[in-house]
Amino acid sequence: MNVLLIGGGGREHALAWKLAQSPLLDTLYCAPGNAGIAEVAECVSLEVDDHTAVAAFCKDKAIGLVAVGPEAPLVAGLADDLEAQGIKVFGPSKAAAALEGSKGFTKDLCAESNIPTAAYGRFTEAPPAKAHVEGQGLPIVIKADGLAAGKGVIIANTHFEAHSAIDACFSGAFGEAGAEVVIEEHLTGEEASFFALVDGETVLPLATAQDHKRAYDRDTGPNTGGMGAYSPAPVMTDALCARVMDEIILPTVAAMKARGMPFKGVLYAGLMIKDGAPKLIEYNARFGDPEAQALMLRLKSDLLPALLAVAEGRLGGLSLDWHDDAVLCVVMAAKGYPGSYKKGTEIKGLDAAGADPEVEIFHAGTTREGNRILATGGRVLGVTARGPDIGQAKDRAYAAVDKIAWPGGFCRRDIGWRAVGRKD
Ligand code: AMP
Repeated sequence: MNVLLIGGGGREHALAWKLAQSPLLDTLYCAPGNAGIAEVAECVSLEVDDHTAVAAFCKDKAIGLVAVGPEAPLVAGLADDLEAQGIKVFGPSKAAAALEGSKGFTKDLCAESNIPTAAYGRFTEAPPAKAHVEGQGLPIVIKADGLAAGKGVIIANTHFEAHSAIDACFSGAFGEAGAEVVIEEHLTGEEASFFALVDGETVLPLATAQDHKRAYDRDTGPNTGGMGAYSPAPVMTDALCARVMDEIILPTVAAMKARGMPFKGVLYAGLMIKDGAPKLIEYNARFGDPEAQALMLRLKSDLLPALLAVAEGRLGGLSLDWHDDAVLCVVMAAKGYPGSYKKGTEIKGLDAAGADPEVEIFHAGTTREGNRILATGGRVLGVTARGPDIGQAKDRAYAAVDKIAWPGGFCRRDIGWRAVGRKD
């Protein structure tokens, strides 16, 4: 089978690396891909926004499955337009991608299905939003309703900050995404992620993970797309995973089906855990980045039949095998990220760093120029290692990081701090 993977980040390199190992695969194409993905797939420069062009490519290359990595093409309806042409897609329809694309939609769905989540209000104008804030405790969370590339969430510590955030949303700071604002109660506890495959009806739990969103050590500095992740998340005991399935994932999948917008793809639940009880913070309609890097290294089974089963609505009866090991991913980013950074700096030592069979170096923002690998993005590499526990996976990942010679880059040195040596 020929497969087309959409995306060009570290998540897509991890998916491509895993798909490339499938005995069912003939040719893997990736649009646009990157220098790392080019090692395992044929990178193609397709205009992903042009759904007609993507469909034509699929027909031309006899693509048996399109796997969509990032959220934007899903929210833009790529899956709908391809499926209308008879092309199989791993990834939800535009309507079902609202679980990620509209925070207000998800909050309403939770309210209707009694899914535990933070109390909230939805607003389309500033005055009632500000009046609502006045009656609430602090801190309070102000969110742009739509996709805002991870930037549309403001945790306000004062009413003044909350009002400023509301004004920022309604004055277009997050573009269209801020046309509606969701105001939420601030939850406390420990955050963790739970991933499951869903074929519209049947749910196959995958694994758990935790990530680090802040740029610098000790979880300080500005928010980023994610500076590292590990799987499994120690806080997610079997009992807690069972509760997440029963109280959050299964009611969501049932509610989506009942609304006539069945969710198909990977459902990624961002959770807050307090006193052993889970609450939903948000849904994503795709794999996390860098969580996918950790998940793919833990997955023993072939990924391709699982993605195909999701696309064909026959997940029932499928099971997946996982390594018992833990996996940890350290993101290396260009100095200055998430602010402005230089492009085109050279990275050396990748072969030596990747020589350990338990280490994979996933590329997120790179290009090849002759024999040289150059950084082209903010987040550039995901150095990912497997080990018998998180501590040993961490030591291996940082041993590999230390072999990479990239003066233009930096990484956090404390990925996994919460999990290493945890006693409970
Ligand atoms: P989201 O984009 O909704 O995942 O929000 C990004 C981050 O903001 C989350 O990972 C949390 O760290 C934080 N966050 C979002 N909503 C809340 C909430 N209601 N209470 C506490 N923290 C939150």
